[in-house]
Amino acid sequence: MLLAVISCATVERRVQVPVLSGEPVAVRHVRVLVGLSTDTQPLFVGADAEVLVYSGEREPRPLGRLALENARISLSRRGAVITGERDWGKPAVVLMPASGGHLKIGSTAYPGYMVLMKPGSAVQAVNWVEMEQYVAGVVSCEVPRRFSRSGIEAQAVAARSYALAQLRLRHLLSYDLKDDQSSQVYRGLSGTRSYGVQAAARTRGVVLIHDWKFLSAFYFSTCGGHTAPAAQLPGAPRIKPFECVECDYCRDSPRYKWAVTMSVADVEKALAAAGYVSGSLQDIRVAGRTRGGWVELVEIVSSEGSRRLSGNAFRRLVGTGNLYSSKFDVRKSGDEFVIQGRGYGHGVGMCQWGADGLGRLGRNYAEILKYYYRGAEIVKIY
Ligand SMILES: [Zn+2]
Repeated sequence: MLLAVISCATVERRVQVPVLSGEPVAVRHVRVLVGLSTDTQPLFVGADAEVLVYSGEREPRPLGRLALENARISLSRRGAVITGERDWGKPAVVLMPASGGHLKIGSTAYPGYMVLMKPGSAVQAVNWVEMEQYVAGVVSCEVPRRFSRSGIEAQAVAARSYALAQLRLRHLLSYDLKDDQSSQVYRGLSGTRSYGVQAAARTRGVVLIHDWKFLSAFYFSTCGGHTAPAAQLPGAPRIKPFECVECDYCRDSPRYKWAVTMSVADVEKALAAAGYVSGSLQDIRVAGRTRGGWVELVEIVSSEGSRRLSGNAFRRLVGTGNLYSSKFDVRKSGDEFVIQGRGYGHGVGMCQWGADGLGRLGRNYAEILKYYYRGAEIVKIY
C-alpha cells in the first residue's frame, strides 16, 4: 500500500511506504508540489541511483526499474505519464530512488520520493518528504544562518505547525503545500543547510496547537513596529493567536522602514487592468487603518468616480515586490506616487526579524512563539 493514508488522526499522519527490503515502515510525510511539466515548459527528472517506478494507485504495482538522467516528463495522448521515452501507461506514477540515492527535478535534488501525476494536460511533480527533512529545508530557505539560534528554532516550529495544518488527508493523489511563498519556501536537499537541520532536530516534533487543532502558523518577514490583525490576510482565521501585537524587535530588518516611488502611469495601468480605474487615475488615498497602522481600505480616485479596495488587494495589484507591505502612506507628487512604509509581508502571525531580535535578547524559542501566537499551546507530538 504505497500511497494509502491509513490514519486520519489529527495528531499525526502515517503513511506506509515500501522499502527495498520489502518490509513496510511507518513514516510521516508531507507532499509538496515542486513543479509542473507542460508542453511549453517541460520538467526533467533525473536520479543519482537506480529508480523504482510504481503505479500511483490504491494498490500500487511495481512497473519497472531504470536509470533516469534528465528525462523529459510528458503525457501520452491517452493521458499516461511518460519519462524520457518510457510510457508508463498510468495517469500517476511514483518514483523511488534506490537506497542512498536522490531524485532531481531540473537541477534541484529532493529527499524522499516523487509522485508524477496528471491534472488536465500537465504533469505535476509532487515530492513526498519526511516531515523533519521538510522542516529543515523550509527553515534553510525562510531565514538566514545569521539569525539568532532561538529565532531559527521558532521558525522551525512555525513551519512544522503550518505544514501539519495544511495536510489534506482525503485526497490521495494531491499535494499539501506549494514550494513558494504562497505556502512556505522549500528547495529540497539543494536548499537545505546545516543550521536548518539543527533547528529541526532541536525542536523535533514540537508544534503549536490552538483550539485542539494544529495552528496554521502564519509568519512574514518584518512588521515594522506592530503586527497586523488576521483580517489583513485573506484566509487567516480571526482567532487570538492572530491578533496583532507590538514588536519593536525587528529594527535591524532592512525593511523596517522604506520608501518607494511609482509612476502614476504604472499604478494606473495595474489598477485599470483589474477594473479599479474609470477614466484617468487622479489620486490614491488611505481610507482606513487597523490598529498598528496597516491599511484597511484604499480609495482610488479617478476622473469618472472613485472606488475602494482593501489595502491587501491594492498591494497585490501594484505588486508585492514594489509595495513591501500594506502599512504605508501615499502622496502624489507630479507624475509620481511617493509611498513611505514599514515592514515586509502580510503582517499576520510571527515577525521573522522580530523573532531573531527576541532571540538576541535571550528569549528561547517557546517564549518567542508565545509572544507572537498569543493563546497557542506548544506541544511535542513525537
Ligand atoms: Zn516585528
